Amino acid sequence: MELGIEGRVALVTGGSRGIGRAAAEALAREGAQVVVAARGSVGVDAAVAALRESGARAEGILTDMSDPLGPADAVARAEAIIGPVDILVANAGGPPPGRFVDADDEGWDLAVQQNLLGTVRLIRAALPGMRERGWGRIVTITSTSVREVIDGLALSNATRAGVAGAVRTLAREVAGDGVTVNNVLPGPILTDRMRELLSSQPDLDAAIAERGARNPTGRVGDPGEVGDLVAFLASDRAAFINGASVMIDGGESRVVG
Ligand code: NAD
Repeated sequence: MELGIEGRVALVTGGSRGIGRAAAEALAREGAQVVVAARGSVGVDAAVAALRESGARAEGILTDMSDPLGPADAVARAEAIIGPVDILVANAGGPPPGRFVDADDEGWDLAVQQNLLGTVRLIRAALPGMRERGWGRIVTITSTSVREVIDGLALSNATRAGVAGAVRTLAREVAGDGVTVNNVLPGPILTDRMRELLSSQPDLDAAIAERGARNPTGRVGDPGEVGDLVAFLASDRAAFINGASVMIDGGESRVVG
């Protein structure tokens, strides 16, 4: 299937590893020009080098999604380097695990800045140009916790729900301007985030295998599988998919809808 995004400019935050990097790779495979944004230059440089090696046009910028000025700056720099952002993948690291009763104001503030306001600010910066040009694709990366909370991830559960509400609201506001806004809800995906969350287990490989065994597919997901979903939602073909929260969890969630 031709996705129709050859030459489109994509900005992927949190794009140096894991799901963000896989999204950047999937978009690049479809011919998009990709700007990878993340906090560390080593990871960004490595991701950009790999993308260029595969023949893609790719650039890297440093940004911190938890910095109030970071998202708008990322969009401005991406546009200065490559051109107007057509495709925005709003992604960042997840908040640290913990129970609701143990989280203090500092923890809440960081999670809200990074995972809720960071997404809002990023979208606010890229959206006016998309609307003016009559074409845009925004994909947020959250979690299946939007549908079914995950024990021990209080900050994540709450901030993802905020993003889901914002996406659904915005999708209706911009639908007439050729812009779609969708939300991807990954289940267990084998990335550094998963490895970190399981790092307290004595045998990491066994813990990953055990996590996979609890999924109906008998395995955990691959970041590339999420990347391909992001690329489709960012495509011209997905013009009528708007405001959706799309789960990619191997069928693990029992929630209907
Ligand atoms: P990851 O930790 O492997 O990668 C996160 C990426 O974001 C890295 O490139 C990192 O450098 C970057 N990053 C982190 N904080 C940032 C910040 N403040 N500003 C800019 N960049 C930042 O995570 P992942 O597994 O790829 O997950 C991506 C998102 O999906 C996270 O929000 C995660 O919580 C969520 N998620 C992951 C899973 C999973 O199983 N892996 C499941 C559900 C939800």
